[in-house]
Amino acid sequence: MIEARYFTATGDGVQCLLCPHRCRIREGARGICRSRECRGGSLYALSYGMPCALAVDPVEKKPLNRFMPGTRCLSLSCTGCNLSCRWCQNSDISQVAPEETDSTPLSPEAVVDMCLRRRLPSIAYTYTEPFTWWEYMYDIAALAHDKGLKNILVSAGYVEKEPLQEILPYLDAANIDIKAMDNDIYRKYCGATLAPVLENILAMHKAGVHVEITNLLVTGLNDSDGHIGKLCQWMVDNHLPDVPLHFSRYFPWYRMKATGPTPAATLIRAREMALSYGIKDVFLGNI
Ligand code: SF4
Ligand code: SF4
Repeated sequence: MIEARYFTATGDGVQCLLCPHRCRIREGARGICRSRECRGGSLYALSYGMPCALAVDPVEKKPLNRFMPGTRCLSLSCTGCNLSCRWCQNSDISQVAPEETDSTPLSPEAVVDMCLRRRLPSIAYTYTEPFTWWEYMYDIAALAHDKGLKNILVSAGYVEKEPLQEILPYLDAANIDIKAMDNDIYRKYCGATLAPVLENILAMHKAGVHVEITNLLVTGLNDSDGHIGKLCQWMVDNHLPDVPLHFSRYFPWYRMKATGPTPAATLIRAREMALSYGIKDVFLGNI
């Protein structure tokens, strides 16, 4: 645990300024992500240096299909997420507090050293929401760049502008998950909003980060031609036809077990639609 960045003191606690939730947190309480706590009038990042998941993955599993293809990355995660998607496949680590999982102390130096010793060319911050453990990601990413390693962000992209800008110089690639091109779906099913996500994708792309976009198609929720067309049109309107787009298949999980898996035909139709809009690289995932 270390003192967090991006907060301001209030009369009875602090306000966290890391993500658009801007949680007001009273003494002894935590923010929505469960991983930032107010103590003694300050804010603490509780999971700093305590990853709960560590693995070696093919970079295509992130998914990134056009960034260092054929290589493997060290995948790392701490608990916490500022979204609460009802279909979350990683709810056992994203929707819990740090003390509710097993974790291992691992300094940023040890993470980078592990990567070098295994001759892995990149580190992926993944599985939960890396922005909720911003300080740990930042320290590892800065050190990794010093040693010639690449940094990969796998995220829902729900972060404030300033912390994003500060970490941007260290990010080489990102896969950002757009849940739906619909703010009501974001609010009702994910506990967040759409606009900051879209703005952040554009900011990353403008900064020269290699960006790929994922869209999980949930049966009957965001898989209509209207939803898919809106995403494709937004990409075209914002000059992103070269950004690889991944349509991912949904499976019943967590708090959404009654809805059946996305039919394969829906994914194939989505891909054909995206190609017809001029999106150049369209991939299907979980299928
Ligand atoms: S990072 Fe966590 S504590 Fe901070 S505003 Fe977002 S949800 Fe709240
Ligand atoms: S953003 Fe990702 S990790 Fe967070 S709740 Fe949604 S699916 Fe789970």
